[in-house]
Amino acid sequence: MRSVCVFLGSTPGHNPAFGAAAEALGREIARRGLATVYGGSNTGLMKRLADGALAEGGPVHGVSVGGLKDLEIQHQGLTTLEVVATMHARKARMAELADAFIAFPGGIGTFEEFFEVFTWARLGLHTKPCGVLNIEGYYDPLLELLDHAEREGFVRPIDQALLVRATTPEAMLDGLQERWDGR
Ligand code: AMP
Repeated sequence: MRSVCVFLGSTPGHNPAFGAAAEALGREIARRGLATVYGGSNTGLMKRLADGALAEGGPVHGVSVGGLKDLEIQHQGLTTLEVVATMHARKARMAELADAFIAFPGGIGTFEEFFEVFTWARLGLHTKPCGVLNIEGYYDPLLELLDHAEREGFVRPIDQALLVRATTPEAMLDGLQERWDGR
């Protein structure tokens, strides 16, 4: 495994623990000699992740969207910053650049991006590991929803098993690496 894509909030959230954990995740990705891939923004948790990885000397690849310029402030200190034309192109490019994917606390954009790559894994379009990093119990309702969907027969146990669930950056990266090695 050489690179990890993180989907996470463009805002910081109310709990300062999210920002601290985003930075810790960036640092841990870099310490393991992995590249960080993310949306290229200089705001919220996205900025904290990138700054953490950069502080540890790790490469960070941002994939931003040109048309969102008014909404998105691009990080100018990244190793590489690609600006693509559409959200679809951005997701495709991030998926291409990364060997694994993490859903970190975030909002609608985070959910949408993560569920797309998770769906692709379920369909067998790729075999890259996907994980939900459940910081401060943020994703408890989401993981409960997945369990509920499985009980109701809409999500197969085999699909649930594709998902790495962890509560710390270290455990998440261990889990993704294990899946990657076992492919
Ligand atoms: P959200 O979780 O709604 O804050 O969206 C953040 C996630 O969606 C990031 O992983 C980005 O790649 C993407 N994204 C969508 N819209 C934006 C935006 N206006 N600024 C930064 N990132 C965005």
